[in-house]
Amino acid sequence: MSITAERHIQLLENASNLAREAAEFALAHGIIRYVDGGGVTHLPLSLVPWKAESSFVEETRELTVLYNDLYHRVAQDTDFLSRHLGTARSADEFIAHLFQALEQERPGKPALYLNRNDCMPASTPTGVWPKQVEMNLMASALGEASAKVYEMHRYLYRHNPLAANLVDNSAGEGLTWALNEGYRAIGNPGVVLYLVPDGEPNAFGQRISEVRLHRLYGVPTARTNLETLGREGELRDGVLYFRDEPVAIAYFRSGYAPHHYPNEYAWKARQLIEASTAVSVPNARTQLANTKMIQLKLARRELLEQFVSPEVADRLLKSMVGFANLGQEIEWHGQKAPARELALANPDAWVLKPHREGGGNNYFGDQMVAKLGSITEREAEAFILMEKIVQDPFRSVRLVNHEPVPCECFTEMGFFGLAYYPDVEREPVFNQARGYLLRTKDTSMDEGLVLGGFSFLDAAVV
Ligand code: ADP
Ligand code: MG
Repeated sequence: MSITAERHIQLLENASNLAREAAEFALAHGIIRYVDGGGVTHLPLSLVPWKAESSFVEETRELTVLYNDLYHRVAQDTDFLSRHLGTARSADEFIAHLFQALEQERPGKPALYLNRNDCMPASTPTGVWPKQVEMNLMASALGEASAKVYEMHRYLYRHNPLAANLVDNSAGEGLTWALNEGYRAIGNPGVVLYLVPDGEPNAFGQRISEVRLHRLYGVPTARTNLETLGREGELRDGVLYFRDEPVAIAYFRSGYAPHHYPNEYAWKARQLIEASTAVSVPNARTQLANTKMIQLKLARRELLEQFVSPEVADRLLKSMVGFANLGQEIEWHGQKAPARELALANPDAWVLKPHREGGGNNYFGDQMVAKLGSITEREAEAFILMEKIVQDPFRSVRLVNHEPVPCECFTEMGFFGLAYYPDVEREPVFNQARGYLLRTKDTSMDEGLVLGGFSFLDAAVV
């Protein structure tokens, strides 16, 4: 079918109107980031929502609640963490520091979680099914911006029936709701202290959250980085004080990367928080449970069943792909060999991951081959191999720097998981999935960071 010149012009005009409406919505609603030099721009976002299978969305949502509970139990099990992270602890200073913070822990504190369960719509022999990339128990970001992108799609498509089938997203409200519920349940007087990195390009979501916490719930907040807290924070009768205010909750929006700890003062802040009555979101044990090594161990049924029933284990295992230590002998598609050799022979089927969070750390394809070639026996302990999740590409249009760009894409959906446990033994006061981050990216991109420019914010329609 040929397209007339007039029709072509009309389509282009419609696209540029849509692009402009989207960009202005984004700027007006805080779907923005800092750029170098201090200005702001809109975050990359989709102009067309992703058509999802409702069974994928529902299972991803339900899995989130199960994973919240699993990781809570794992985090409480100090023996399990010590046993399975023992080698990593001696090979990796970052992990060693987290164990040192854990040693300071004041016993019997409640646990509050603002997690995100990142899953991809994997194509499997029985259809599309969620396969988990990872659970984020630390500084889960972009809840505010992704909820606003959902609202943007509802607005852009207000005259189109698809608007009614968008998957509701109230992630931003949910995260603040959980902070407030936790704050009330904990009952400590004082502030919610936002721990943020210096020069945070993504400060706007945090600001919206702080304002909402204050305005809707009357909860006082403060903001600093780890180093400053380490220098200025002090314990008075077990209560952490920062600039003469008691801290009720320490809410980490940094602390996952080594550069957030420029010196020992930043690690001292971790120790102060652990030793105090302040509830740490997350605490050091949770961050240890969140390592790739523990993710790998939990993919083994006998270890998983230490924490969940066989029925729940079935369901969780169905959401996992293969994991291996580099030297581990594994059976994969009928071949039996050390995992490192299998990955070298099948570079597009495996991902090499260090014990790092925050994106941009993994090795894919040729880079993985090069890295695997240079890793020494001792360094090998600091990496894991994960089977690559395979999904079918789809068409989308992203808006980057105000320009619409058509693309062939993959995507990744993470429901936010909100949970509060008053103590180790008891049932949660709440444990729920609310709102999601949908990150779509060009198929040529391996990583999924929005702020790193790899992916763009999206909304799901069923
Ligand atoms: P980080 O802790 O740095 O966020 P992740 O494990 O989440 O590391 O990996 C970063 C990104 O790399 C993911 O968001 C995803 O886009 C991609 N990725 C990671 N693991 C896989 C995998 N097994 N298959 C396909 N893509 C993956
Ligand atoms: Mg991740």
